[in-house]
Amino acid sequence: MLKNTILACLAAVLFLCSVEAMAQSHSHHSHHFTHRTSTKHERKPSPARHVVNQSKTELASRHPFVVAIDAGHGGKDVGAIGPHGTYEKQVVYSISRQLERMIDKDSTMLPVMVRKGDRFIGLGQRSAIARQAGADLFVSLHADAFHDDDVQGSSVYTLLNHKGRSGPNASTRKASNRAAAKILGELRSQQPLHCPHVKRARYAVLRTPGVPSMLIETGFITNPLDEKKLANPTHQQKIARSIYHGIQAYARTARPKLAKSARTRNMMVASRQ
Ligand SMILES: [Zn+2]
Repeated sequence: MLKNTILACLAAVLFLCSVEAMAQSHSHHSHHFTHRTSTKHERKPSPARHVVNQSKTELASRHPFVVAIDAGHGGKDVGAIGPHGTYEKQVVYSISRQLERMIDKDSTMLPVMVRKGDRFIGLGQRSAIARQAGADLFVSLHADAFHDDDVQGSSVYTLLNHKGRSGPNASTRKASNRAAAKILGELRSQQPLHCPHVKRARYAVLRTPGVPSMLIETGFITNPLDEKKLANPTHQQKIARSIYHGIQAYARTARPKLAKSARTRNMMVASRQ
């Protein structure tokens, strides 16, 4: 009996994953691929701009773990729209802000909001902002859409690499997958997943060289139940907390390497003098 139930669930999951994989090439996801020339009056972001607290400033000089939080869409680009009129750009911004607050309270981390407020930012600019902020991790938040409104659950994507194309090197891609697996594990404990493994896609925002990156689809905004949950602040907080715990778990494994590379760099600088 139990075995049959498990098999049925597994079959359903596999079916849904393959349905989406088939649809991906021409689905709503095309907006993640588009490139756009940069805006003229782009201000250079500074990771320390929003840091007013003295202890955080001191901490920044000791290199905290910098998390670039990329709320998808914004401004004229509303993203996907739910059956009850919920905008993707709004729900992912709310979740991003909750995540920002959690990371901000963590003395070992520093959040950087890639999109501040309801404004349009090109995909190339999003990467540039993360790099300029010295991000150790780039997390892009979205809400999925599909023509079948029964499809629901969250997914985590890392870059599907193409040989010969510029982009993150092997170690950055490996780190992306490690971080994505930690976050997927945390999301799994909180809510149904659309797919039980980390998925791969060629999203432009995942191409930032040197910065481990992932894109999280926080649910299907086209599914009425998911739409309702995504618009609920308590559920938004749950998602943000899962992502935060996943980032924490990843940062613990990444930090020794960071410290080591800093020491190596200092030794190299010292030996040159
Ligand atoms: Zn999106």
